[in-house]
Amino acid sequence: MCSTFIKSGIKKLRVTGGEPLVRRDIMKFFKGISRHLETGLLKELTLTTNGSQLRRFASELSNIGIRRINVSLDTLSEDKFSEVTRWGRLSQVLDGIAAAQEAGLRVKINTVALKNFNEDELFSITDWCSSNNLDLTFIEVMPMGEFDQEDRKSQYWSLKDLRKRLEDKFTLCDLHETTGGPARYVRVKETQQKIGFITPLTHNFCESCNRIRVTCTGDLFMCLGQEDNANLRDIIRKYPAQPEMLKEAICSAIIKKPKGHDFEYSRMNIKGQMSRHMSHTGG
Ligand code: SF4
Repeated sequence: MCSTFIKSGIKKLRVTGGEPLVRRDIMKFFKGISRHLETGLLKELTLTTNGSQLRRFASELSNIGIRRINVSLDTLSEDKFSEVTRWGRLSQVLDGIAAAQEAGLRVKINTVALKNFNEDELFSITDWCSSNNLDLTFIEVMPMGEFDQEDRKSQYWSLKDLRKRLEDKFTLCDLHETTGGPARYVRVKETQQKIGFITPLTHNFCESCNRIRVTCTGDLFMCLGQEDNANLRDIIRKYPAQPEMLKEAICSAIIKKPKGHDFEYSRMNIKGQMSRHMSHTGG
């Protein structure tokens, strides 16, 4: 399926989860896809991980041509970490990040900004990334999955406010570069650190969106914020020897790509809530 997407023009492939590195034989998949890096058809192969398995896989990932990875990390507090991850040992993730850097991978930390959770760590996370040569992106929490509206509203921390807090301590200069993704970047004058902001709520980026997602069951979601999808697995199984059928299914789905999400946090309620969790389709 990925090869058909790549032959149809996809230049960047990000592997996400849940946690992609706990999938059995995942390196077989990465090695297989990396042949498209060698041909130049695929410009970038990357992944978003929770970092727990990086000590095990970092050098293999680097050897097959992965250059940058994203690690999802919302706290540097051991207690909070084990509380929110239910499995977690923060030290295992920090060691994984070190292994990735040792293997020459560029690491970006993705931190979801959560009121009443990591608000008090804004500067410790920022400084830790700066002193460890890690890129950093803050993300606004999106109304994905089943949740209590009051809880989610109490968690929502607009990046407009977060940026103001950062400007209490730092001078932020807007950068005009993008990675083709939704993040907008600033440079911290005092430390030369680059910080990204992904703002689906305060300033959505749907008009320039170039992203589609496929789940582990072959459902192609043309927009993270809408339910529209097309099942590709059945096509693959029904026409194993006719890749053109899959290509047709992909093209007819992408033509229906929605213009954007309907997420909205207002004092009263949250609009555009999606039933599926973020981990269902990945970030
Ligand atoms: S909400 Fe949909 S259209 Fe907007 S950026 Fe995300 S995937 Fe793209």
